[in-house]
Amino acid sequence: MTENRRVVVTSIDDITIEHIETPTPGPGEVLVRSTVVGICGSDMHAVHGRHPFISLPMRPGHEVVGVVEQTGSGVDPDLTGTRVVVEPNLACGHCAQCLVGRYNICSELDVFGCQAPGGMTDRFTIAADRVVALPDDLEDDWAALVEPAATPVHAVRRAGDLTGRKVVVLGAGPIGLFVLLAARAAGAQTVVVADLLDSKRALAERLGADGSFDSSADDAVQKAETALVGKADVVFDCVSREATVRLGIGVLDKGGLLMTIGVPAGPTMIDLDLVQDRELTVMGNLMYVREDVLRAIELLRAKTFDLDDLVTARFDIEQAALAFHASDDPQQVKVLVTIGADGGTRS
Ligand SMILES: [Zn+2]
Ligand SMILES: [Zn+2]
Repeated sequence: MTENRRVVVTSIDDITIEHIETPTPGPGEVLVRSTVVGICGSDMHAVHGRHPFISLPMRPGHEVVGVVEQTGSGVDPDLTGTRVVVEPNLACGHCAQCLVGRYNICSELDVFGCQAPGGMTDRFTIAADRVVALPDDLEDDWAALVEPAATPVHAVRRAGDLTGRKVVVLGAGPIGLFVLLAARAAGAQTVVVADLLDSKRALAERLGADGSFDSSADDAVQKAETALVGKADVVFDCVSREATVRLGIGVLDKGGLLMTIGVPAGPTMIDLDLVQDRELTVMGNLMYVREDVLRAIELLRAKTFDLDDLVTARFDIEQAALAFHASDDPQQVKVLVTIGADGGTRS
C-alpha cells in the first residue's frame, strides 16, 4: 500500500497526520495526487472554533492543486496525468438552487475540506466533475490561488457593471486583494483598499489600488472619501465584523451596494436605519460556480503581480502544524502546504 498521509485538525494546538488507505476511484470519480494546498481564512476561523458552519475535527484542503492519477468507470481515461484544481462545492444537483445553476448555495451543500475531508493528503478521490483542468502556463503555486480568487471573482460579477464605479475593499488579505484585481479587470474607475496593517496597505497599492487607508482610524470614513474623491458605489467587505459593516455603510453613497464576503463569526450588528433611509443593498456571497473558476484562472494567468507578494510561506505536509500557526500571523498573506516530491512547482 502506498503511504497516504492526511492532515487532521482538532484545534490550533492539535494538528496531526493520520495514515489512511489510498482510496480507489469509484464510478464517476478520479484519484488525485495532491501537490500544493493553500490555507484559507475560513480554515483559520474553523481551526479556532470560530466558523459558524465548520465543526472540528476537520480534514482541510479545499484549495488543492494536483494531478489525476487514476480514473473510475465512466470517466474519460485521458484525464489521467491532467493537472487540476478542485471545485470544492459538493452539491446535491436536484434542489431548487442547483436546478437554476446556483449550486454554490445548494440546500444540502457540503464543502470538500470543510464538512467533507479535503485535499491536504497525498491522494484523494473526488467526482470527476469537481476537477478543473489547468493550463500548462499556470504553475502549481499560481494554481493554488485559483480557489481563493474564485470567490472574489464571483462577488465582483454579482456586483453588476463596475465600469466607471468607485469601489472600496475592506481587508487586504488574499480575498480583498483578489477583489481589487477582479474589480480592476471589471473596469472599476477607482479602487481604494482598507486594512489595519501598513504592510497590507502597501501591498494593495503595489497590486494596483488607487489608494489605501487604515480601517481602524477614527476618521476612516473621511480618509476613504479623500482617497475616492467622493462616496463609494460598492463596498466589498472581506472582514465582516461590526466595525467593518459600519465603516462600509459609512462610506457608501446613497443607493450603494454592500457586498458581504468575509465570514462573520455569528450574528453581526448592521445600521439598518441607514440601509432603509439610503436605499442601500446588502448582498451575501458564498463561494462561486464553474464560470467564476474559469474566470479566476484567466485572471491569474495574466500574472499581473509578483507571486512572492501573495505566497509568503511554504511548508511541507509534515510541517502542517507550523503552516497553520504561520497562517495565524496577520503579516502572512497566503501560506501553502506542499506535498510529495514535486509539491510546490516554482514559477
Ligand atoms: Zn479558501
Ligand atoms: Zn442542491
